Amino acid sequence: MLKLYISGYLNRIQSSRRLEKETHRNVELMWLLERLQPDFKTIADFRKDNGKGIKNTCVRFVQLCREMNMFTDAVVAIDGSKFKAVNNKQKTYTPKKARDLIERFEASIAHYLSVLADKDKQETSDEDVTVMQEKIAWMKKRLAELADLEIRVNAHPDKQLSLTDPDSRLMKTSGMMLKVCYNVQSAVDTTHHLIISHEVTQTSDRGQLHLVASKVQEALQTTDITFMADNGYYSREDIKNVLDTGSEILVPKGDTSGSAKAGIFNKSLFKYNKEKDEYTCPACNILPYRRDAMDKGFKLRIYADHFACRDCTIRSKCTRSSYEPRKMRRWMHEDVIDDMHQRLKNTRNTSLIRKQTVEHPFGTIKMWMGATHYLTKRLKNVSTETNLHVLAFNLKRMMTIKGTVQLRHAITQ
Ligand code: SF4
Repeated sequence: MLKLYISGYLNRIQSSRRLEKETHRNVELMWLLERLQPDFKTIADFRKDNGKGIKNTCVRFVQLCREMNMFTDAVVAIDGSKFKAVNNKQKTYTPKKARDLIERFEASIAHYLSVLADKDKQETSDEDVTVMQEKIAWMKKRLAELADLEIRVNAHPDKQLSLTDPDSRLMKTSGMMLKVCYNVQSAVDTTHHLIISHEVTQTSDRGQLHLVASKVQEALQTTDITFMADNGYYSREDIKNVLDTGSEILVPKGDTSGSAKAGIFNKSLFKYNKEKDEYTCPACNILPYRRDAMDKGFKLRIYADHFACRDCTIRSKCTRSSYEPRKMRRWMHEDVIDDMHQRLKNTRNTSLIRKQTVEHPFGTIKMWMGATHYLTKRLKNVSTETNLHVLAFNLKRMMTIKGTVQLRHAITQ
C-alpha cells in the first residue's frame, strides 16, 4: 500500500478513488502491486490508519540522505507556507462575523414582522402572509443556530470556529488575503533543496524557530548548522535558544515598534555603545543606564536622560509624552542579538538564498496538490498527506541528483 501511495504521489495522483482506478489500468502499478487491486476504501483507510508509519518512512528517508552525505554544508532555510484546508471561508466564524450575522438576521426579522403587520391591516391574501411567516420561521431558526455558534466561537481558545475542518484556521496568505489554511513549517537545505524537517501547524511562523531548528539538529545529528529565516520568525528568545545550542542563525528584524506609525524616531536611530553601556540619541545626547525592569517575562535595562529630553529641541519627533523622557529598553541578552545582526550584515544574499531555497519545494508540492491543496480533514490526516508529499518530493530530488540506480542501491543496502 505504501508503494501504491508513493507511486501515486510521485505522479500527482493523491485521491484514493483515482488510485483505485489506476490499479486497474496503469501497467506500472499492476507490476508494482503484483496485480493486487484494493478498493478506494482500503486505500483511504491505509493513509488514515498509518500516519505514524508514513511519518517514520519520511524521517528514515532524510536519514538515508544524511548517510549519503547530502547535508555536508548544513545551511538550512526555514520558512512556513499556507496550504488550503478542506473548509470554505464562509464556514469559518469569528466572534465579529457571528455578531454581524446575528444583527443582520435580527434586523431582517424585525423588517418582515413590520411588513406582516402592514399586510394584516391591508387584508392581503393568505398566500402572501404564509410565505412571509415561513421566511420569518426560517430566520428565527437560523438566528438560534447563530446564537449557539457565537457562544462556541467565544469559548474557542483561538476565537474562531471552522465547521468543515475544525482544526483549520483563518490565516493571512500572500497579498494579505485571509484563507482557511494550515501553516506548514519546513526546513530545507540550501545546497540540494531537500526538505530536512517539516511540521503542519495551526499558528503563524512566530515562535516556531527554536522548535524547527531543534528538529533539524535531531535529523542531522549535529548542531554545526547555519539557519536562515525571515523576519516573521524574529523572536529574541528563540534566537538566543538556537545560538545557545551551538548553531548559527540569521534572522532579520522587522519593525514592530509602531514608532513610524506614531511619527517618532525609530529605535534603530539610537546607537548603543557597548564599552560605555549607554545610548546616543538622534540629538547626540547620551542616555545612560538607569534601572532594570521586567516586561512580559523579559528582564530589560532602561536608559534615559531626563534633563536632556526636557531641553531637547526635537522632542516632538522623539516622544509623545509631554513629561516623561524617551526611554530605551534593552533586553539583558541584547548583545547576542546585536552580534547576530552584525554577522547578518556581513553575510551576502541571505534573503535571496532563503527565498530561492524554500520556494522550490513549496512551489512544486503546491503544483502537485492542485488548486484545492489538501484532500483530507483534521490535523492528523493533513499531516499524513504532507508527509507523503514531502517523501515524494525528496525521493524525486534524490532521483534527479543521484540517479535511480545509485539511490536504489543506497536504499537496499
Ligand atoms: S527627546 Fe531625548 S532622547 Fe529624544 S532626541 Fe531629544 S534628547 Fe534625545
